[in-house]
Amino acid sequence: MALDATTTALYNDIVRRNPAEPEFHQAVSEVLQSIQPVLERQPDLRDAGLLERLCEPERQVMFRVVWTDDSGRTHVNRGFRVGFSSALGPYKGGLRFHRSVNLGVVKFLAFEQIFKNALTGLGIGAGKGGSDFDPSGRSDSEIMRFCQAYMTELYRHIGPQTDVPAGDIGVGSREIGYLFGQYKRITNRFDAGTLTGKDLVIGGSLVRPEATGYGVVYFVEAMLAERGHSLEDKTVVVSGAGNVAQHAIVKLKEMGATVVACSDSSGYIHDSSGIRPDVLHEVKQVRRHKLDGYAELVPTARFVPDKAPWDISCDVVVPSATQNELGEADAVVLVKNGLIAVAEGANMPCTPKAIDVFHEAGIAFAPGKAANAGGVATSALEMRQNASRDRWTFSDTDEILADTMRSIHNACLITAANYEKPGDYVAGANISGFLAVTSAMNALGLM
Ligand code: NDP
Repeated sequence: MALDATTTALYNDIVRRNPAEPEFHQAVSEVLQSIQPVLERQPDLRDAGLLERLCEPERQVMFRVVWTDDSGRTHVNRGFRVGFSSALGPYKGGLRFHRSVNLGVVKFLAFEQIFKNALTGLGIGAGKGGSDFDPSGRSDSEIMRFCQAYMTELYRHIGPQTDVPAGDIGVGSREIGYLFGQYKRITNRFDAGTLTGKDLVIGGSLVRPEATGYGVVYFVEAMLAERGHSLEDKTVVVSGAGNVAQHAIVKLKEMGATVVACSDSSGYIHDSSGIRPDVLHEVKQVRRHKLDGYAELVPTARFVPDKAPWDISCDVVVPSATQNELGEADAVVLVKNGLIAVAEGANMPCTPKAIDVFHEAGIAFAPGKAANAGGVATSALEMRQNASRDRWTFSDTDEILADTMRSIHNACLITAANYEKPGDYVAGANISGFLAVTSAMNALGLM
């Protein structure tokens, strides 16, 4: 949808004031387009600089991270933490360790998090952080030293009521453990609710590791049911082979689907008899190898180097690696091959043009801020357990996750229909999140 003149001027000003941040511009542009019908119906939502405030982070921290590798060589990385909005609760969102991380990437992720976290209804604000540190090939002790150096600055900016980081690309429970260990050492407090995604032995929650991947699949199940389908006997292509992808594959298999491909930064594996989650876990999690290692263990699998898996025919696609990994040409091929649904496990993995192709072809398309919200929702449950020094069972927590995903799904559809966009999950997610966060901003007064 085209922007009206006032919103165009606002968007142009955001681009001017945040140069060289294309991912951030992309995320803002999508939301501004989605909320056009809301602004037409409620022009007062432009008052008091509400949109300008929504698009300007409350705070942005950048810092130097100095650490030594196993040979004693010194490395200097850059650390980031952006607190975008605390209108609904403490800043909440993951840390990403990847060489591609820069301020614009962190800001796009934190901005997306505003709407995602609002959709959960769990009283969490939005933040994101990370570093351009590249963990690949690093030893365990190098990872630990990096995490300790990173937290030595970050600790002063976070806390259970202020800002609660979690994992993202390159940050799993091992890294969260090292980060929390350093936080505990510096502050002299076992404030478990300061970080989520912790290992169970230091206050983590059951289901948190599985939550994003399982949550996406619960969302897909609801989307397909809406169209009279189920996951039984569907073929699925998943991209990525990390936390989100691995757990999505487990749950998809459990629900009767066959996952025929997944990928990592080295290429993809294809096996029409189905990817084996146990072997994938062994190769990626235990051996920390690339996917050619999978093909060496499973003779029916074919490894295709340096390519994404979008040319493989399937019913459902769950892109779960990184932003802008699925473009317009990929979307055209997928649609031609009989695709019926897409659910983003990653944040913003489909380009705007790819999303247009899906919408025009009538494909059910769920944006990451709705479909992958299960991770942050379960992080909020981990915060609750930490606050009450309680531990919930796997099945109880999983049930809350499944309920949350169904209610996000339904909220998207109801809101989209209210604004004459039936079946448009992008509009539904952005408008629902926008209405929730702007109500809170208005209640809090100017800040
Ligand atoms: P992981 O680090 O566990 O896995 C990321 C996977 O994606 C790896 O297989 C990695 O390959 C691959 N990958 C990363 N960057 C690229 C790239 N540029 N090109 C090709 N492949 C790439 O991360 P997560 O699974 O946690 O996160 C995946 C996505 O899901 C991200 O967009 C993240 O923001 C999003 N997300 C994650 C949540 C969570 O709870 N973890 C919550 C909500 C969203 P390799 O193994 O070779 O490095």
